[in-house]
Amino acid sequence: MDFTRTRSLFHLPEGMIYLDGSSLGPLPLAARERTLRLLSDEWGEMLIRGWNDAGWMDAPARLGDRIGRLIGAPAGTVVMGDTLSIKVYQAVAAALEMRPERRVILSDHGNFPSDLYMVDGLLRSLFRGHELRLVAPEEVASALDEHVAVLMLTEVDYRTGRKHDMAPLTEAAHAAGALTVWDLAHSAGALPIDLSGAGADFAVGCTYKFLNAGPGAPAFIYVAPEHIGHVRPALSGWLGHEAPFAFDLDYRSGPGIERMRVGTPPIIAFAALEAALDVWDEVSISDVRVRSIELAELFIAEVEKRCPALELVSPRSAENRGSQVSFRFEHAYPAMQALIDRGVIGDFRAPDVMRFGITPLYLDAGDLVRAAETLEEIVNGRLWDRPRYRERRAVT
Ligand SMILES: *Cc1c(COP(=O)(O)O)cnc(C)c1O
Repeated sequence: MDFTRTRSLFHLPEGMIYLDGSSLGPLPLAARERTLRLLSDEWGEMLIRGWNDAGWMDAPARLGDRIGRLIGAPAGTVVMGDTLSIKVYQAVAAALEMRPERRVILSDHGNFPSDLYMVDGLLRSLFRGHELRLVAPEEVASALDEHVAVLMLTEVDYRTGRKHDMAPLTEAAHAAGALTVWDLAHSAGALPIDLSGAGADFAVGCTYKFLNAGPGAPAFIYVAPEHIGHVRPALSGWLGHEAPFAFDLDYRSGPGIERMRVGTPPIIAFAALEAALDVWDEVSISDVRVRSIELAELFIAEVEKRCPALELVSPRSAENRGSQVSFRFEHAYPAMQALIDRGVIGDFRAPDVMRFGITPLYLDAGDLVRAAETLEEIVNGRLWDRPRYRERRAVT
């Protein structure tokens, strides 16, 4: 597979090596043109008629089906909208209602805080004695018992890249009578996912990381076909209603996945998402996975050879790792700022982790060797040791 073609589909600033697709993917060139076209031809010319004539109303389901092809979800099981945090809330609320006699939501303490915060808020408003139980990632399977209503996991750990095994954990959850909510934030666009094959009940994810749809791009939610008809949306907005334009005073959910819609979808953001998804017409996710593992192995080897002070915190075995590689370093924050200053962009995750997102869509072996060389200069030459690199900004 030749990835020079996909690289040419992105805008990358001159001289920059971008290792932060795990936080925000780069701009697909077509997104600029597609967004401008939406502004001028659709919003500009059609105005309100765009909802019918430009297909805006169907966009959440249409784009959901395109995402579905990347995550092993059949047509009609994925819908777009809102942010990932909102989708977590919806999925967990729906799953809890399907296990009314149980009171525990099980997750691991590597999960992304927003997922845990959303559950915490949900449980407070439910006020029915539910408990969010957190265990170590490797103890999840053994912590499943008859009290667990929902197993909520993020497949790939945002900080370390450690990857859960979706199929066996889903099977174990089902054997214990629990439902599963999988967060695919760091999986979608990074590795093959088979929601159907794994028997997942619910899944959620965002599109601004490895799917490159832009800052604040809409999230997605998947509901297994056998559950869709039973799910009662907690966020029962009008666009999930069976007949929004009947303006009934009573809520009746739509028949299919559209019941997980809430309010008016972000049509301008969808233009960028649509263009970002076109990139996936050129490559298969399994080719991306194979090459991203090769690149990650190269990067790990180069960094370990050059920077003995850095400790790999990602799993060493590629099959247990997503698409990011992270190292622990005492001076991780200023070292990352020094790296960014030299055009190598990764990010910092508290308390002491330097994280690098690796995808062949726009990175090659030369980029990773150059990134490791730059890191070597900074770490071994103490170039991070400058007051300006210690200033903490709002986003790290
Ligand atoms: C990035 C990420 C989020 C962010 O949620 P938003 O609502 O999109 O800000 C949530 N959960 C996980 C696991 C993430 O990696």
